[in-house]
Amino acid sequence: MSEHHPIAVIGAGLSGLVLARVLHTHGIPTAIYELDASPTARNQGGMLDIHVESGQAALRAAGLFEEFRALVHPGGEEMRIIDKHGNVRMQEAGEDGDRPEIDRNDLRGLLLNSLPDNIIRWGAKVTEARALGDGRHEVTLADGATFTTDLLIGADGAWSKIRPLLSTATPAYSGVSFVECDLPDAATRNPAAAELAGGGMMFALADGKGMLAHRETDGSVHTYVAFTVPAEWLSGIDFTDTPAAKSDVLQHFPDWDDRLRALVTDAEGPLVPRLIHALPIGHRWDRAPGVTLLGDAAHLMSPFAGEGANLAMLDGAELAAALIAHPDTEQALHAYEQALFPRSAELATESADNQAMMFGQDALEKLLVWMSSYGESVA
Ligand SMILES: Cc1cc2nc3c(=O)[nH]c(=O)nc-3n(C[C@H](O)[C@H](O)[C@H](O)COP(=O)(O)OP(=O)(O)OC[C@H]3O[C@@H](n4cnc5c(N)ncnc54)[C@H](O)[C@@H]3O)c2cc1C
Repeated sequence: MSEHHPIAVIGAGLSGLVLARVLHTHGIPTAIYELDASPTARNQGGMLDIHVESGQAALRAAGLFEEFRALVHPGGEEMRIIDKHGNVRMQEAGEDGDRPEIDRNDLRGLLLNSLPDNIIRWGAKVTEARALGDGRHEVTLADGATFTTDLLIGADGAWSKIRPLLSTATPAYSGVSFVECDLPDAATRNPAAAELAGGGMMFALADGKGMLAHRETDGSVHTYVAFTVPAEWLSGIDFTDTPAAKSDVLQHFPDWDDRLRALVTDAEGPLVPRLIHALPIGHRWDRAPGVTLLGDAAHLMSPFAGEGANLAMLDGAELAAALIAHPDTEQALHAYEQALFPRSAELATESADNQAMMFGQDALEKLLVWMSSYGESVA
């Protein structure tokens, strides 16, 4: 006989974990199904800056704000804009701002540790979900097991298996491809490159390309080398042959400063290709009983506004608040979605606009103007 859960969350990413944590603090149990085999099965990625109105608000709602502050990367808010010749065109200090940086692994660990041990089913890949009527759903896992639930929550990211219950939309290629690389112990291995990249985020942009780098808490510099190219372009690079892949990448940066090129040349481990996808701006759906989406499943956007993870956490906190406030589940989902749709449309627009600015003509000069006006508006 299949199991039944009053509330089932698909995905133990930031959105699903915040949701489960806030509900847990109000005595409401959830069951989370996650395809990763264990909490440590996969590196969760690099640094995130956590915004006051979204990520930080969600952590406060989860009762984890003080613990979060203790994990913040000191100095990580430093920001530099650099031209391709290695001139630092703008630099902002990295202390005591309102967008503290945290390692994504630490943030996820904080949320995982705040939940009861048995709440997450690891190694549980959802393959399909179907409506049973009366708002109930049956969910099928890759091993053939099934369970039923009164409330199904799709927090399963870009390629959500729950989204098709609500919408026919699928993510489309944004026009930007990344090649990720990592320079460990940067200050020792290449002091000049480490010095140029600085202690936080670095943007170097020119000619429809870029190097977006971040100093991590372990002293490494993690770089996204960005290209505006067709989706198939990355398949022309043999990523199993790292020296050849580095050479293929660097041939697109012949006149860039050697310290910037060194972020690729001196990188350790394989280079990792990544296509950037987004859902249509303004993605929404009609209310369907007993199911909803949050985070990337609801509003996947390009990362150029730095909002996706922040919004995902806010979604989790807001959906939990709606479920706590409204004893009627459909009223709760309606209230949550009416706030979700305009909020995510606005930030998806900002992400797309930023992408156009960062990889269009005069990108560096436009970014400098935008960053200075942003600095004034938040001062
Ligand atoms: C290169 C890059 C840089 C980024 N930088 C930033 C940034 O600086 N700031 C920021 O705010 N955002 C950033 N983002 C966006 C951010 O990573 C996402 O918006 C955020 O992780 C979304 O959280 P989520 O919980 O919705 O989904 P996810 O983090 O994707 O979590 C979904 C979870 O569901 C699980 N899952 C998926 N499918 C299934 C299935 N079928 N069955 C069971 N489980 C499943 C996955 O294993 C995963 O654990 C960046 C994104 C990229 C690609």
